[in-house]
Amino acid sequence: MNQRIGIIYGDGIGPEIVTEAKKVLEEVASLSDHNFTYEEILLGGVSIDACGEPLTDEAVTRAKSCDAVLMGSIGGDTTTSPWYKLPPHLRPEAGLLRIRKELNLFANIRPAYLYQELKEACPLKEEIIGEGFDMVIMRELTGGLYFGNRETKEIDGVLTAMDTLMYNENEIRRIAIKAFEIAGKRRGKVTSVDKANVLDSSRLWRKVVDEVAGDYKGISYEHMLVDNAAMQLVRNPGQFDVVLTENMFGDILSDEASMITGSIGMLPSASLNDTKFGLYEPSHGSAPDIAGKNIANPIATILSAAMLLRFSLDLDKEAQWVEEAVQQVLKEGYRTADIYSKTAGRALSKLSCTEMGEKIRKHISRK
Ligand code: NAD
Repeated sequence: MNQRIGIIYGDGIGPEIVTEAKKVLEEVASLSDHNFTYEEILLGGVSIDACGEPLTDEAVTRAKSCDAVLMGSIGGDTTTSPWYKLPPHLRPEAGLLRIRKELNLFANIRPAYLYQELKEACPLKEEIIGEGFDMVIMRELTGGLYFGNRETKEIDGVLTAMDTLMYNENEIRRIAIKAFEIAGKRRGKVTSVDKANVLDSSRLWRKVVDEVAGDYKGISYEHMLVDNAAMQLVRNPGQFDVVLTENMFGDILSDEASMITGSIGMLPSASLNDTKFGLYEPSHGSAPDIAGKNIANPIATILSAAMLLRFSLDLDKEAQWVEEAVQQVLKEGYRTADIYSKTAGRALSKLSCTEMGEKIRKHISRK
């Protein structure tokens, strides 16, 4: 089968890490009867330099023509890069917000997984970590407080600011369905997080999630208030499988969850719409401080490619090859510089970005 994959190299370490992840996709294709064709798409600072804007209409059309898009991070050093002297709508991040909107990417998935080999990097105590944890945070990405009307004005002589938190039942239903579908591919548990003791939008959230849950009898689910969820994440992270929540709660909880893994350079992410299409990217930024040095960790991007195989192309087995190869390379003691420092003391080998990509591909080729 022929599938079209958009490739956004992006800025900073983007080209280095995406090159390694693309080679992984090529390795997977060579071992199966799938044929991937690649469509390069400009986004971010490179697009500003080449076209005068962070995302062109042509780039949007190209992205829409693909089955999925793999992206490196975008943006530069926000204090020194000339991109940040431009008005906000012409800066690199404006391109990212626009592509999410153009592609209607309403469901953001960020896994938080503790690698046993990187346990020392986890800031939690051993007795809390227990057997480890493996969860995904599913955050609604195109509604809620970040997209509602906002205003700052004087009321009775006092400067007053207002942001609107609004959700309709369709927006809640479509992300809830995604969460239950994904839980079905994992350990079969959804924790829906809200603030239903205070907010009307959360009470509607709860009602709609209850309705959706009725269609997924095999999946267990619970509701949890967001303040409790923030606490439970550091008290007993092993209890979570799929955490479903709205935009702002998800923004905060997904950062908390990635922090407790201790290794953000390892964490992939996916943003999905209501088709099979998705945009896949590492959770970290473009790391301009280490760009061009061949020392970046490509694992988050390689694992994003694995999510692309699973969620957009339905290639579960091939996704698993990639994830197992990453596990194996870590088990053998290979590390890039960012995770080497966190596991010092054991016999480990420090690899460059290209060497790490190569090691992972070698394991895949043995499948
Ligand atoms: P960052 O994640 O780029 O870097 C933070 C630290 O982590 C740096 O020391 C960096 O060297 C290190 N790091 C990050 N990824 C790494 C990797 N794969 N391997 C090894 N080390 C890694 O965050 P920042 O410095 O706050 O942001 C830099 C730029 O990235 C900014 O322009 C920001 O807007 C942008 N950014 C983009 C995205 C995105 O494209 N989705 C997300 C976050 C930040």
